Amino acid sequence: MTKKEKRNPINAKRNRSPIWHPFTQMREWENETQTIIVEGKGTTLIDSEGKHYLDGTSSIWVNIHGHRHPALNAALKRQLNKIAHSTLLGLSNLPAIELAEKLITIAPSGASDPQKELTKVFYSDDGSTAVEIALKIAFGFWQNKGAEQKQKHKFISFHNAYHGDTIGSVSLGGIDLFHEAYRPLLFETIKVPAPTCYRCPLSLDYPACEMACVDEVEKAMKRHHRTIAGLVIEPLIQAAAGMLTAPPGYLKKIRVLCDRYDILMIADEVATGFGRTGKMFACEHEEVVPDIMAISKGITGGYLPLAATLTTQEIYDAYLGDYEEFKAFFHGHSYTGNPLGCAAALANLAIFKREQTLKKMQPKIAYVKRALMPWKRWAHVGDIRQVGLMVGVEVVADKKQKTPYPLTLRVGHQVCKAAKAQGLLLRPLGNVIVLMPPLSVSMRDLEKMLTIVGQAIKKVTSSIR
Ligand SMILES: *Cc1c(COP(=O)(O)O)cnc(C)c1O
Repeated sequence: MTKKEKRNPINAKRNRSPIWHPFTQMREWENETQTIIVEGKGTTLIDSEGKHYLDGTSSIWVNIHGHRHPALNAALKRQLNKIAHSTLLGLSNLPAIELAEKLITIAPSGASDPQKELTKVFYSDDGSTAVEIALKIAFGFWQNKGAEQKQKHKFISFHNAYHGDTIGSVSLGGIDLFHEAYRPLLFETIKVPAPTCYRCPLSLDYPACEMACVDEVEKAMKRHHRTIAGLVIEPLIQAAAGMLTAPPGYLKKIRVLCDRYDILMIADEVATGFGRTGKMFACEHEEVVPDIMAISKGITGGYLPLAATLTTQEIYDAYLGDYEEFKAFFHGHSYTGNPLGCAAALANLAIFKREQTLKKMQPKIAYVKRALMPWKRWAHVGDIRQVGLMVGVEVVADKKQKTPYPLTLRVGHQVCKAAKAQGLLLRPLGNVIVLMPPLSVSMRDLEKMLTIVGQAIKKVTSSIR
């Protein structure tokens, strides 16, 4: 062992760890010193060498109230003293029941027809499966409705969409870098442009861009509605695409179109759910009630893997029948409704209430908006997009022409590296620097984060000719 390895035995050993990391070029990874997180508290992560970092990604979009929250820890210990896991196949359990009841009370509501309120909860384990389940439920809904609707089996999804990494979710995806390689494995979807107005897919300015994008959706619906089961949308913001925001009012227009053409609206709130946008769910900003809603990431406050797909009474009812009609929803996972996960989710919701998380985050959202204002004048900041505490700063080679830096320069990666050296952990999406702190972040830590990101952007962009 070298001296350095002696000082850091964990790293020395784990450098050749058999872990194959997600979205990672492992050759590069193996040649880097790795940061191994051993502890967390609040917004801070601590590595095996005792270095402290601010968690600027909420541990990739999952953490809500900070790490090692006493109430969450206590709730999990209480549940552990009862049972860690029991199945939902043929049995039920209390945390799963209680959580389902809570979820339907906080879900977006106010549909004109009570049959179209979200009143049923199907559990799974992660965002991708929550979306897969939404697809299968929507497909089966039309199959069960009757002969005439049986041809409704296709889905509309958006350019730049990200709905997860399983095959069904990838089929809906619209990010070439992630999705194109798998094309031969995927089922066909009808792709429509999203009104990402900084780089309008139709080369128009706002509001013409939005109107034309809505038209494109309507055209696709008009042409194909007899064969379309559902439309899948990330409400307000296409997160993984680089925090691409849609103009206010757009989501509502899509809801209206789905109703007009008898298409199920599936909201993927995996990233936006649980307060990230400043309301419990993004759909609430536009008083939209989807027919199906997929949730995961923040559901357990960032503690355990859990997901849920919520549906309306109308959809649920279409699956009811005599046993021999075989209308049951034939789908399930080993850990469906896991009591520990559900207990964490219940504690998460209780903290939202007790700590008034949604109310207390409002000044933080306003602060970020104000603090970022002057950045718009910076030479290489092309666009700043923010919804709640989801923030994307897009750096560009040429501001006027909106010319992106070539991906091979890895400017986003460099900025995040510079930020890490200053004690802030981030992960970029191409040339977009993403900041997504836990909702519980203190004003002081938020200030610190913005200072570090700003300095890192300036440092890196000024060093590239
Ligand atoms: C992260 C994400 C998913 C996938 O969730 P996983 O838990 O990573 O499978 C799906 N949709 C959106 C919008 C996401 O951000």
